[in-house]
Amino acid sequence: MPKIENNIRQVTQRVEQSARDAGRDPADVLLLAVSKTRSAEDIRCAVDAGLTNFGENYVQEAVEKIALLNKNLGEELNKEPLQWHFIGPLQSNKTRVVAESFNWVHSVDRLKIAQRLSEQRPAELGPLNICLQVNIDNEASKSGFSPNETLPAALAIIKLPNLCLRGLMAIPQSQQTLEKQKIAFYALHNLRDQINQTLDNSEKLDTLSMGMSNDLEAAISQGSTMVRVGTDIFGKRDPQNSLKESNRND
Ligand SMILES: *Cc1c(COP(=O)(O)O)cnc(C)c1O
Repeated sequence: MPKIENNIRQVTQRVEQSARDAGRDPADVLLLAVSKTRSAEDIRCAVDAGLTNFGENYVQEAVEKIALLNKNLGEELNKEPLQWHFIGPLQSNKTRVVAESFNWVHSVDRLKIAQRLSEQRPAELGPLNICLQVNIDNEASKSGFSPNETLPAALAIIKLPNLCLRGLMAIPQSQQTLEKQKIAFYALHNLRDQINQTLDNSEKLDTLSMGMSNDLEAAISQGSTMVRVGTDIFGKRDPQNSLKESNRND
């Protein structure tokens, strides 16, 4: 069996088992394949193995792959359209392409970015789904709203016409044990519940984007609805690409 397909099978089993262990319906946890630095061919393998949701971090790289895959898949019948999630740092001069090409943005970390995305979202595409990135461990090196800033930001962003605020995203500090990993995920879940208490029924946040290759079990135990998995699906990222990654600022 090709490697990517086999990896997807294993990750899917981990996701389903973690959900059942937490007394949750496995259908309530979406597996988002993080395809940054991967070729369109690798993504195509994941599509053929049944995945439809992909996460990308770099605008230019992503739009090229999105165009290529949409063209490929557009020629085939009965293929579900892919859903593209922008999960990386977003500069304000890149918001237009993101608003035009993606279905979701998980990494909204400033009001200004949300305002631009709303202004630039083409009306015919419908609202862009948004998660607020929360700097849940208050790390100086990480972007995101601090937990205290998140409710006011949510209240402002909910008013923007071409966005649909869906939930919160976090990338916690890495921890070695399951019990330690759970702490930040619990805090994000709690923050989401607090925000929901002040929102109307029609506005309540239904999404917790949390958990990656190394901590998806802990995240699902604390209510994750989307796990973002790169390495355990596509293999280790090429260090050369990773180097490019850290030097690139799109
Ligand atoms: C790269 C990345 C991931 C995937 O991480 P892995 O450890 O490779 O699974 C998830 N979320 C974000 C925001 C990322 O940048």
